[in-house]
This record gives sequence, C-alpha cells and structure tokens, in this order.
Amino acid sequence: MDFELNETQRALRDTAREFAQGEWAPHAAAWDAGGVFPADALRAACGLGFGAMVVPEALGGTGLSRLEAAIVFEELAAADPSTTGFLTIHNMVAWMIARYADGAQQARWLPGIVSGETFVSYCLTEPGAGSDAASLATRAAAQGNTSYRLTGQKAFISGGGATDLYLVMARTGGAGAGGISCIAVPREAAGLSFGKPEKKLGWNSQPTAIVNFDGVVVPVENRVGEEGQGFRIAMSALDGGRINIAACSLGGARTCLDLALAHVKERRAFGRPIADFQALQFKLADMATELEAARLMVHRAAAALDAGSHEATQRSAMAKRYATDTCWHICDEALQLHGGYGYIKDYQVERYLRDLRVHRILEGTNEIMRVIIARKLLETA
Ligand SMILES: Cc1cc2nc3c(=O)[nH]c(=O)nc-3n(C[C@H](O)[C@H](O)[C@H](O)COP(=O)(O)OP(=O)(O)OC[C@H]3O[C@@H](n4cnc5c(N)ncnc54)[C@H](O)[C@@H]3O)c2cc1C
Repeated sequence: MDFELNETQRALRDTAREFAQGEWAPHAAAWDAGGVFPADALRAACGLGFGAMVVPEALGGTGLSRLEAAIVFEELAAADPSTTGFLTIHNMVAWMIARYADGAQQARWLPGIVSGETFVSYCLTEPGAGSDAASLATRAAAQGNTSYRLTGQKAFISGGGATDLYLVMARTGGAGAGGISCIAVPREAAGLSFGKPEKKLGWNSQPTAIVNFDGVVVPVENRVGEEGQGFRIAMSALDGGRINIAACSLGGARTCLDLALAHVKERRAFGRPIADFQALQFKLADMATELEAARLMVHRAAAALDAGSHEATQRSAMAKRYATDTCWHICDEALQLHGGYGYIKDYQVERYLRDLRVHRILEGTNEIMRVIIARKLLETA
C-alpha cells in the first residue's frame, strides 16, 4: 500500500493547480455573481485533457485512472467548485459513451466531447422521480425499428440549455428499472425545450434547468446500449460521479482551511493574533484531520473503482457521504473562524460554503448513500 503520489501524478496535480489558480480562480467570484457559464474556460480545461479524463487514449481520451482524475478535480475545485462540478458531469457522460456506446456512436460524439466543442448533460432526475429514479416516467416510444419519440420532463439538469447533447434515461418498456433505456438527444432536436435557469444557492457558474421533451424524435442509432439497459448504465456512471463530486468537496474545503489559517494569523483580538487561542487551534487541527480522513476515503474508493473491485459501489457511496458532509462542515468552521468577515463575499469562504452544499444532495443524496451502504452491510452480514 503506497500513499505517496508518483512522479506522473505529482506532475498532473501541479499542472491542474497552476491552470486552476491562473485561469479560473481570478474569475470564479465574478462567474458566481453573474451566473456566467464560462464555456471558454471549460474548453481550456478540455485542452489540457480534463474533459474526458478516464476515457481510454485509444478513443481519444486522456486515459487517466479514477485516482488521477480525483487529484485533478480536487485542484480545479480548490479554485472553483461550481465550474468543476459541471466538468465532473461532462466527464461522467464521456465515460458512459466510451463504456457503453458502439463504435459509430463513439466516433460521432467523443471527439467533440474530448475537445469541449460539445458539452454534455446527464438526464435522470424528473419532477416526480429523484431519489426513486427507477420510477421515472419520461417515455421513449418506439416508432417501428427506426426511431423513438420522447415525451416527458427532466428536472435539475446541470448545463440544461447550455449543453449540446443530452443523455436521457427514458422508459421504453414496462415499470421499474428494467424498462429504462439510455438515449442521446441533440440540443437542436425539434420538441426539445428548456425551463428558465433555476435560481440557486450555489453552483451559479452553470445553469440548472428543466428539460422538456415534447414528442422529440431521434433515430434508433441514438440509443446507447441495449433496450432496458439504461438504468444500469446510469447507476454504473454514478460510482465514478460520486468520487468526482467528493473530490470537488476536498478542493473546496482545502481552500477554506487555507483561508482560515491565513486569517487567524492576521486577525487580532484581546491584544494578540486569534491564532494564539487554543480553542481555535483545536478547531483548525480538527479541520485538517477531517480533511485528511476524507481524502484517504476518496482515494481509496477511486482505487477500488480502478481495480474493478466488487466493493467499489459501497466505497464510492461511503466516500461521497463522508467527504461531502465533512468538507461542507470544514467550510462552515472556516467561515466561523473569519467572524463577521466570513459572511462577506470578498472573503470568499461563503462562496465555497454555498457551492459545496449541493454535493450532499446530488449524485444521490447522502441519505441514499446510507441506503446503499446499509443494504450492502445487511446483505453480507
Ligand atoms: C444543482 C443541482 C444539479 C443537479 N444536476 C443533476 C443532473 O445533472 N442530472 C440529474 O439527473 N439530476 C441532477 N440533480 C438532481 C439530484 O440528483 C436530485 O435532486 C437528488 O437525487 C434528490 O432528488 P429529489 O430532489 O427529487 O429529492 P427527493 O428524492 O424528493 O428527496 C427528498 C428528501 O428525502 C430523502 N429521501 C428520499 N428517499 C429516501 C429514503 N429511501 N431513505 C431516506 N431518505 C430518503 C432525500 O435524501 C431527501 O433528503 C441536480 C440537483 C441539483 C440541486
């Protein structure tokens, strides 16, 4: 068991850090405040190979391991968790196409996804089906053997309206998980429309919107995988997605800890720097310890997924649950250590706190993570 990053991983981390601190960090607050989707800045990340990180090189991707991708996402999120959050979903869909699409589909979609010319969205959640995703109602009715006609609505879709291709879980068969298929819908398809971008607490540098399917017809060649395989495809993608979101939480919490350390050394009260108070030193010690524990869990889960371990789903759920809860708490403690200044936007911590809050909700809520973990525990007990 080797806990050190190797030379290649250190170089990758340094490249990501330099890029994120140079190209994203100076703009992150403005993107948040203005609700700006920074397409060019995301394409610049794709230019460094961060758009399709775990897609094999043979398919045009970067061919990184899950662990290496987690290292990159932590660095990017240290600058901007919201923009990185979008990139994690883009990467997740890239992996789904690399893993499940046929050669013709890969040739059609992957080059644009790798370069960032084509941004992609993952469409599972519906207004009436969130945690209970297998109950989804969007219908894809087969029209002979040639096409599907999609009718329904997806909710909370990251990138909705700004992205070019929508990977949609829709019902082609009967009730339950086995009746769901995975179908790609291009933005220009007739009958596809978007709700207004939702007004949100955080994740403001990317739109989140309802996606409406009003008799959208797509050729059967747009179905990814077999009929009835869609739910399995969607769930298998979430193991990696959860590790990626957890890695984003690590980056956000790390920045907040750094900001808090700088602040307590600078800020004086009762005639001395507040860093002199042992109560605050203990708080900082706990924040650093908990961040380290979270990172170990995320890297352990990533290694399990890389190894194809049967424990990967459970470990991903554990890492997502622990890291996203813990890292949000670290941001909150950092805000507290800033006193009133923590509540002021110029001091940045509040943006990280807002952005990391949703990590406890999406890619499966942290209650659903507990459902997954407990189910496995009881199965194997
Ligand atoms: C900013 C943002 C971006 C998102 N991006 C995407 C996206 O790109 N694609 C996509 O498909 N979805 C996306 N989502 C949707 C997200 O995955 C769902 O919001 C999430 O899965 C929860 O579903 P829900 O909101 O319907 O909550 P519900 O399922 O209604 O849950 C409400 C509460 O009940 C709890 N609960 C539900 N069932 C159980 C249970 N069995 N045991 C214990 N507790 C339970 C939940 O944990 C939660 O606390 C996004 C959401 C947000 C906010």
